[in-house]
Amino acid sequence: MSTTNVQFNFKNKNAVVTGGAQGIGFQIALSFLQAGGNVSIWDYSQQALEVAKKELAQFANQVHFTQVDVTQKDSCESAVQSLPWACDILVNNAGITRDKSFAKMGFEEWNAVINTNLTGLFNVTKTLSEKFNAQSNHKRIVNISSVVGLYGNFGQTNYAAAKAGVIGMTKTLGKELARKGFTVNAIAPGFIATAMTQAMPKEVLESMAAKVPAQRLGSTADIANAVLFLSSEQAAYINGTVLSVDGGLVI
Ligand code: NDP
Repeated sequence: MSTTNVQFNFKNKNAVVTGGAQGIGFQIALSFLQAGGNVSIWDYSQQALEVAKKELAQFANQVHFTQVDVTQKDSCESAVQSLPWACDILVNNAGITRDKSFAKMGFEEWNAVINTNLTGLFNVTKTLSEKFNAQSNHKRIVNISSVVGLYGNFGQTNYAAAKAGVIGMTKTLGKELARKGFTVNAIAPGFIATAMTQAMPKEVLESMAAKVPAQRLGSTADIANAVLFLSSEQAAYINGTVLSVDGGLVI
């Protein structure tokens, strides 16, 4: 008889979370740690890494921190070399925005977002692929896309193109890597409350929430829960999918 009462247990599982020092990535890392997993947090910001290290002090035996720039292949290679274990789960979460209307968008904004949000995923996934646990049939890659990658958004040509590219990459890797014991899936978050949104005026936040059928912004925990599910044993037969976690925003 198979188990259907899901309780996440990631004991003896090793995860890399990019952009894991802040925001959604931090919550994903914390959730893996709380579920018994080991986590390597990769982030660009040394300052954010220091803060995260303090906040996660109680998990000191399970977590370590690496300064990495996902846009740089060499930086990713050094980070892979510093891993103390073979990887089971990769969460490609690091991302940036450089919003401008198409008319005003320059090559700088275009390149920065494509390099981080799309090429960054290629760099990390490519360099880490040899460090995945070869013995395991439970290998997981979860890519953080966006509803914007499915539906577009005013002022985000660069971001929407990168996030749509992430979906194409997810589906292709789902096909190519399944025979090696991987599942590869994407999550498309809607409006998520993070430090960035908390800084917005109250009326802007209220009007954003009003657009969501659930009448609220998502929480970082909403995204982390979906990541843990897609990373779990129970999600073994889910591959190449895009899970919208958006309170029904784009129904
Ligand atoms: P945050 O800016 O809070 O966190 C992203 C982290 O990624 C930061 O610590 C950032 O460091 C790091 N990062 C940026 N560039 C690099 C790089 N080149 N190499 C390594 N790390 C890097 O973002 P969110 O938590 O809001 O977003 C997380 C993911 O979720 C992103 O992919 C985003 O596109 C996606 N998303 C977010 C939504 C939201 O509403 N917040 C909605 C839909 C998708 P630093 O601060 O130094 O730049």
